[in-house]
Amino acid sequence: MPTESAFFLAALFVLMAAIGWGLRHLADRDRDNSPPTRVSADYMRGLNLVLSRRTDEALELFVQMAKVDDDTLETHFALGHLFRRRGEVDRAIRVHQNLLARPNLSEAQRHQALFSLGDDYLSAGLFDRAEKLFSELTESESHADAGLRKLIYIYEQERDWHKAIEMRRKLEVVSGERLPEVAHYYCELAEQARLDGDLAQAKTYLKSSVRTETGALRGTLIRAAIAEQEQEYAQAIGFYESVVETDKRFISELLPHLQKCYQAADRAAEFETYIKSVVSKDAGLARDIAYAAIVGELKDSEALRGCVERFVLTNTVLADLVNWPEIETLDETQRTAAIERISHGLRGLVLSSARFRCTNCGYSSQRLIWHCPSCKQWECVRPIQGFQFETLVA
Ligand SMILES: [Zn+2]
Repeated sequence: MPTESAFFLAALFVLMAAIGWGLRHLADRDRDNSPPTRVSADYMRGLNLVLSRRTDEALELFVQMAKVDDDTLETHFALGHLFRRRGEVDRAIRVHQNLLARPNLSEAQRHQALFSLGDDYLSAGLFDRAEKLFSELTESESHADAGLRKLIYIYEQERDWHKAIEMRRKLEVVSGERLPEVAHYYCELAEQARLDGDLAQAKTYLKSSVRTETGALRGTLIRAAIAEQEQEYAQAIGFYESVVETDKRFISELLPHLQKCYQAADRAAEFETYIKSVVSKDAGLARDIAYAAIVGELKDSEALRGCVERFVLTNTVLADLVNWPEIETLDETQRTAAIERISHGLRGLVLSSARFRCTNCGYSSQRLIWHCPSCKQWECVRPIQGFQFETLVA
């Protein structure tokens, strides 16, 4: 059902169009002394119908008017847009289809109507119909750029990365812009090939992804995963450590992989050295390492155990929840068991709350995603560092 504000806005459109039309025709009449047409009365009738909430009758009137006067065209586009914005997509489609049925539209007007109808279909979830219209527009002079951007949106939603790459390439030619998103599409293809077990194909896609800095971090992560899969542990360690070097927030995600690779390469002692060197360079990372160790239940490492214990014993929020003086009186074995119990509880807390957040729009998620479903930006979701104790009292 249309809302009060929809009626109000629609009425406003009609009123503005009527005033605009009135002024223009008064001026024309003064010039050529021609008699007034009936359009002004139709606008006023349309206004009355909208105000009295008889939207379907008002719509019929506007559709009829479009056959009469080109001056009404922009009002129809505005009304179609308004209907779509209010979720009344059927009415928006009706308006735009009627415009397209007019035989006397200029090419630019026809393309504008096609574009608007494509937007209606998108809003209605009719992607195949929208795709057809936007594809037609990629050949037009006025709407090639906008049509390509809509097609890219559709192919991103459908995860059709080959078509998305093709449209980005065309858009680069039309707009003259360099579009780094192509690197992400190749990363998507590479990751899919890796998951399908086709590592050679994954590497080929990765070569294509090295076009820009954007996507480089993700490309390195996929290379690391491939190397780990191929049991090339030294190479995998190099890739994982270079990602942490680039963006320290990833340490919580990559620590389990690093420990596994060091252990598989029979270099567990070097893992200890690595942890100590990371903490000595940036003491703040001890907290992130403790987080990773708790969430990943990482054991068999003196350095990790030290980070976890320091975190548990020095965290001010936990100090209010746990009886530290009592824990500190325990012997080594009991104390380790107590820390493990607390760690287990903290792990449950982390797993029940968001672990990743979009740095652009704040969208949060339980898993690492590269294309934010909310703001549609690429590579802006990052691991949340640390525990969200507020969920304890929520
Ligand atoms: Zn976002």
